Amino acid sequence: MFKKEKKKINLVYDDDLKGMLKRLGILDDFVQGRKKCEFCKNIINVENLHSLFKKSEDIKFVCDSPECIKKLLVYLK
Ligand SMILES: [Zn+2]
Repeated sequence: MFKKEKKKINLVYDDDLKGMLKRLGILDDFVQGRKKCEFCKNIINVENLHSLFKKSEDIKFVCDSPECIKKLLVYLK
């Protein structure tokens, strides 16, 4: 099961997700399966999305695989 160690930096969850993706202009890409996990390159969908983070001006997606979550936490440090 998931551990509750979510960081609050640039991460956005559920409710606001669609609205935020829309504002960022990437909702269509996301819905059409064109967004990939920054770390493992799996295609991101609503089911496996763990979080988003900002890299330069790009929004990166992270899937919910334990490996990728670990990498994300390392990256955010
Ligand atoms: Zn991944």
